[in-house]
Amino acid sequence: MDFPRFIHIYHQTASAPAAAAALDAKIVAEEIDKIFPSCCKIDIRPPFKYEEKMIEHAKIADIKQPFEKQPNHEQDSKKKMIPMITTTTIPLYDGFVMQKKLAEIIPDVEISLAHIHIIFTSLLTCTFSEDDWRYHGRAVICGTPSIVSTTGIVEALAKPREFYLAQLLGGIAEDNDYMVKKKFAGRFIDYNDEDKITAASINYALQAIFFFITSGEPFCNNKDCRLLNAHWQEDLIHTIEKRTLCSHHRNLANKLSKSHPRAERF
Ligand SMILES: [Zn+2]
Repeated sequence: MDFPRFIHIYHQTASAPAAAAALDAKIVAEEIDKIFPSCCKIDIRPPFKYEEKMIEHAKIADIKQPFEKQPNHEQDSKKKMIPMITTTTIPLYDGFVMQKKLAEIIPDVEISLAHIHIIFTSLLTCTFSEDDWRYHGRAVICGTPSIVSTTGIVEALAKPREFYLAQLLGGIAEDNDYMVKKKFAGRFIDYNDEDKITAASINYALQAIFFFITSGEPFCNNKDCRLLNAHWQEDLIHTIEKRTLCSHHRNLANKLSKSHPRAERF
């Protein structure tokens, strides 16, 4: 089996909404390089280029219907689209449909398992769950290419319960949002928090890499491990502060680095 030789990191896509979360791709690359020393070549590339209309196809109009049943997809593309009926103001994109579309653009020579493509985007990715029959926002979609949604880091993981309660209790008072954010500072992740978003992006990039190393098992149950599949921002912040992998995953990374030393020529 091929093993990862090349890790390509793409800067955040330019088609960002106004509240695009900040991210430092260089720090992400450096941190990955420390964890996989000497086995993979990591490069940072410009934003992944695609045509807007390719991705529009992945847009979700009704979060309570699977992709095949989305109202706008039953229409001929030439016909008028049904207006969006989502309850959120941030558009959602089916992560796997988006992934399939983006994969079509990757050149054949880079489509093998030796290449891991990690695309950062501010589009909000989501996946459909058959458990509760609705879409959920996701911060990472693993595969080729892997997609890390910085908006997903802010929106797809829950903030502390008390945060939402304080928001409700404060009602529509003008400074309520500001006051609540001030009160819970450090316990949640906001769009302008470049340090936390970058640190969280490292976690998700690692999950994307471990997806390949472990044949599809990117997550960990250890609450200290960077591969924890956090549902709460506080749990994610805990792993960010720990900055560590559990011993099992650290061993896996070390083994890979030792058994596949970096090739002489690239
Ligand atoms: Zn682990």
